[in-house]
Amino acid sequence: MIVPEAERTGARRERADVCVIGSGAGGAVVAAELAQAGLAVSLLEQGGNHRSADFDQREDHMFPMLFEDAGLRSTRDGAIQILQGRGVGGSTVNNLGTCVRAPDPILEVWAREHGVRDLDQLPDAFARVEHELGVRRITREELNELNRRVERGSSLLGYRGKLARHNRIGCVRSGFCILGCSYDAMQSMRVTYVPRADAAGARIWPNCRGERIEVGAGGGHVVRASLQGARQEPQGELRVEAPVVICSAGAIGTPLLLQASGLGGSAVGKQLHLHPSVTVWGIFPEAIHAYYGIPQAYYIDEFLELERDPASGVLLLPTASFPSMLASELPGFGPELFSYLRHFDRLGGLLTLVHDRSAGTVEAGFGGRPSIRYSLGEADRRELVDGVKHSVEILWASGAERVIVPYQRDPLVLRPEDGTSSIDRRGLREGIIPMSSAHPQGSCRMGADPASSVVGSFGELHDTPGVFVADASVFPTSLGVPPQITTAALADRSARHILDRWPALGR
Ligand SMILES: Cc1cc2nc3c(=O)[nH]c(=O)nc-3n(C[C@H](O)[C@H](O)[C@H](O)COP(=O)(O)OP(=O)(O)OC[C@H]3O[C@@H](n4cnc5c(N)ncnc54)[C@H](O)[C@@H]3O)c2cc1C
Ligand code: SF4
Repeated sequence: MIVPEAERTGARRERADVCVIGSGAGGAVVAAELAQAGLAVSLLEQGGNHRSADFDQREDHMFPMLFEDAGLRSTRDGAIQILQGRGVGGSTVNNLGTCVRAPDPILEVWAREHGVRDLDQLPDAFARVEHELGVRRITREELNELNRRVERGSSLLGYRGKLARHNRIGCVRSGFCILGCSYDAMQSMRVTYVPRADAAGARIWPNCRGERIEVGAGGGHVVRASLQGARQEPQGELRVEAPVVICSAGAIGTPLLLQASGLGGSAVGKQLHLHPSVTVWGIFPEAIHAYYGIPQAYYIDEFLELERDPASGVLLLPTASFPSMLASELPGFGPELFSYLRHFDRLGGLLTLVHDRSAGTVEAGFGGRPSIRYSLGEADRRELVDGVKHSVEILWASGAERVIVPYQRDPLVLRPEDGTSSIDRRGLREGIIPMSSAHPQGSCRMGADPASSVVGSFGELHDTPGVFVADASVFPTSLGVPPQITTAALADRSARHILDRWPALGR
């Protein structure tokens, strides 16, 4: 049940078998699986419990409601915008629905180089999660105009691509997924696993921020949390006593929580990967309305050859934007910016996502807010340049007349006869072109060695029995593909591991 208002004031206390902190792709899955198995689960979520009727498709309302820092979170130097969801369901509420399983070459690296055990359990976990989320492949007939053109353009150039698998049922193709689905078609955790947890008796605390975990001498742990009202005004305090605590606050929130609690060792907050991305924008001769229809329904994986090299590559994904988002992604101000924005109906983007070797750090900064340091290494910058050049060529082959490469100073607007060598000459690095990340991961990684990893193969902290991590922060390396389904499958596997060890783990 969603804990009623009357129980939220003052100093509150409850006992549970398991306390889960964060309700996104990882937290919702462990909470539902453990509650359905009969454990008493408390699920704490710092954001609100929104209804689909709250999603009014307006950027100025939805960014503050659904995103961390209203969508303005970034690396410390401001160079890379980091998009993360906030609210019951986490980032699955405002993501694009693409579901790609962890590629085998990546899992082999996790096993071979990081000592992660029993990854052969993952295919079953993927199958269960995909069934629950209604994952299916998008058909060619469902592609919107941008995705259709990009598929044609990349095929003409001989590049490998795929129709994506998505978790949407009854989608009316409105295109608003990032602003929350008003039609409950997106099978986010908010409409799938969280209601399952609720039906199985989990106590769900929205607007409840896990502040720290205190480790009990006899194994019983205490989670201290603060309760807020709908406008984030302080409301009360919550103390949850539980033998098992699961941190699922995402790849930025979980390391902060562990650091505030003095848990996890020196590797906490290290090895943060971002899948940093740059988008170039094609201007097509006629309106293509790229913002309508199913976003990101096709992707090009020609340049992600993980069998050959599991540590590098780029994925190219068609992308569209809403007016304010687009204004922040295009170069210039005033008349210059308007000269691009006036083509709104004719613009379609191609995003180059880097499977990054570069790794950053997360720690608490001013007022406990995250301080995220990240800089792209030389090899990743080269991958990015190659990816962006391919993106420009694919947009031309897709019918774009010109392509905007949005350098903040002297942007390039390239026609096919211009070629792409100017991108080589200028290079790409943080601060000179907008970069973003919607996939933070890896800041509390799994592994066999406590010196270089935070959790073992099933997410339990090396240094604290009974405290687990179940979210994207456990990835030992960058995944290279969209991470939601892998996060959920690993969480399903951790839940089964906890149940296998129950009731001993609960004593
Ligand atoms: C705009 C966007 C588009 C995306 N598109 C895709 C896509 O198409 N396909 C894909 O695979 N992935 C996509 N992703 C990424 C995917 O959604 C995430 O990788 C995935 O949800 C990560 O799961 P998680 O459990 O680690 O974190 P999240 O799902 O982010 O959940 C973490 C939750 O913890 C809460 N929290 C944080 N700190 C605390 C605290 N101290 N106390 C209580 N609660 C806390 C947060 O509010 C949040 O609700 C997208 C993400 C975004 C933002
Ligand atoms: S495109 Fe589909 S899933 Fe996305 S908001 Fe519209 S109806 Fe929902």
